[in-house]
Amino acid sequence: MELSEEILSLLFDEALSRFLNYVTIDTTSSSTSGTHPSSEGQLRLGKLMVSELKELHLENVEQDENGYIYADLPATAGYENVQAIGFLAHLDTSNATSGANIEPKVIENYDGSPITFPKDANLILTKEECPELNDLIGHDLITSSGDTLLGADDKAGIAEIMAALAVWVKYPELPHGPITICFTPDEEIGEGTDFIKMDRMAPICYTFDGGEMGELETECFDAWGAKVVFKGVSAHPGYAKDKMVNAIRLAASFVSQLPEGETPERTEKREGFYHCMNFKGSEELAEALFILRDFDVQENKRRMSFMESLKEKMMAEYPGLEIEFTFTHQYENMNVYLKDKPKIKEIAANAIENAGLEVKDTAIRGGTDGARLSAKGIPTPNLFAGGIMFHSRREFISTKALQKAAEVCVRIAFEWTK
Ligand SMILES: [Zn+2]
Repeated sequence: MELSEEILSLLFDEALSRFLNYVTIDTTSSSTSGTHPSSEGQLRLGKLMVSELKELHLENVEQDENGYIYADLPATAGYENVQAIGFLAHLDTSNATSGANIEPKVIENYDGSPITFPKDANLILTKEECPELNDLIGHDLITSSGDTLLGADDKAGIAEIMAALAVWVKYPELPHGPITICFTPDEEIGEGTDFIKMDRMAPICYTFDGGEMGELETECFDAWGAKVVFKGVSAHPGYAKDKMVNAIRLAASFVSQLPEGETPERTEKREGFYHCMNFKGSEELAEALFILRDFDVQENKRRMSFMESLKEKMMAEYPGLEIEFTFTHQYENMNVYLKDKPKIKEIAANAIENAGLEVKDTAIRGGTDGARLSAKGIPTPNLFAGGIMFHSRREFISTKALQKAAEVCVRIAFEWTK
């Protein structure tokens, strides 16, 4: 499918202007508020989305009681029987950095030199720290002013989907089947699909929540949490010989016997890890919290049985010591659900190639709304939204990425009509 210059430039203008507007609304999610959505700003951005979706005359536009936004775009005339698909992006931004009063800044025609920020003279971003910049020389880049994150994760995803919708509405001859849009709250705190209405979703979806242009992700971590409780025996330290079993000292020994080569700070790409994220206690009682991550569930099972064998060994060595485990499966590698349905990925890969980009088939060292949706029965790969250095004050995006992701959205819908 040829897309005219006029359509491409509309995609660019729509995605860019909407993005610059959305980032001015603070939608930082909160893991402690206990409300759904977790912050008021997400409701405000959601209200804006409802009015923009209604302006585009989408059908069944809704902001529900938990802040989810849903809307439908009927098929192009004659394509009503094409596979229905959905597009998702998330409303919230990470609480790792402030998302309030974001003042985006555009660097025109980036020349490769270190990027500076008006509101923090000590903050700098270089190509050495961020090799992705090497591919973006000559692009227009958007950064924050240095005091906040930018919010491309994931307001870029929302803006890109909105730009695609604007084009479909203005050019009703462009072929696509029925399309459902969903913007979710609280993805960053792991609750993005907790209250999603499955009966409002299309049977196949795509999230726009990835990084670099061309990224297509059908794999994410298989994720486990482990709580380990150590029970010891206390005694007066002066008279403790052969009596005391010091829970916190033995807990420390347990943690240090896990392989150092399998920690987040020693692994990358497809390597998995044990991560001790919290540790506390006394001589009677100690507790260590872990997360276990791998792309292969068998590798995580191997880690759990290694922990079990360590437990047996230590309990035999230190009579009186008790060790108890609680393992919880947090989310699955979505590839378990996607590998038997190669067409869903192939279509996205074709759309990326037809947009003139190289497909970067990567595995997410984390989870996405798509991973949880896939496990709930809606296969949902993840596509690039274009933002780089997520969750930090140095987050940035190329304006070209906004346009290209919107174009990929239009092309995915077209590919399904073939
Ligand atoms: Zn995101």
